[in-house]
Amino acid sequence: MAVIMLGPPGAGKGTQARMMAEALQLPHISTGDMLREALKNQTELGKKAKEYMDAGDLVPDELVDAIIAERLTREDCSRGFILDGYPRNISQARFLQSLFDKSGTRILSIGVKVDDGVLIKRLSSRWTCPKCNKMFNANLDPTKIGGKCDECGTALIQRKDDSAEVIAERLHVYYTLTRPLIQLYQEQGSYVEVDGNRPVEDVFNSIMEKVTNYE
Ligand code: AMP
Repeated sequence: MAVIMLGPPGAGKGTQARMMAEALQLPHISTGDMLREALKNQTELGKKAKEYMDAGDLVPDELVDAIIAERLTREDCSRGFILDGYPRNISQARFLQSLFDKSGTRILSIGVKVDDGVLIKRLSSRWTCPKCNKMFNANLDPTKIGGKCDECGTALIQRKDDSAEVIAERLHVYYTLTRPLIQLYQEQGSYVEVDGNRPVEDVFNSIMEKVTNYE
């Protein structure tokens, strides 16, 4: 089964996807993480993606579709996987469906709903580990050792696209291009929703309940 995390930037998709991946022993596949890695390594993909990412806009479909198609062929995806940040628009959802039609993969999409005010606060106080991609919140979830990742000790950074201006664009992109996916998956009967305004553990418990009860 493919679990698809849906929700605006800052909803906690990455954190929840990581926790789920650990609990279910499935790979966590984040297009944002893959693109940031490509950017860091200055690959061709990274160079092409940079201007879009810096502006908070979507990277062209053909680039992300290609990285997803390749990633899903790997052995670790054979039991299922958790998609975080993909699909991001209707065209990507159609592309993904064409892959799943071939492999017979079923979808469970999980929408994490969070109020706009909470999102902006979370994103602007978010710190990220550039090595293991774990996220921390300066207000809600401070690190044990100031400014360092609890898991690997790497110095945390603030993502360039977590600046106020880029956050506004990312939210706009979400509402115009990504949110329509909710209706698409609702019509397919593969959509469930959780309230993401609550503490991380409570959201996680709700998600696991939905995953376990999904027929
Ligand atoms: P994220 O970490 O998911 O918030 O993604 C960070 C940035 O990477 C986004 O603002 C986009 O520029 C780009 N990105 C990530 N996933 C996709 C996708 N599925 N389609 C297009 N661009 C993406």
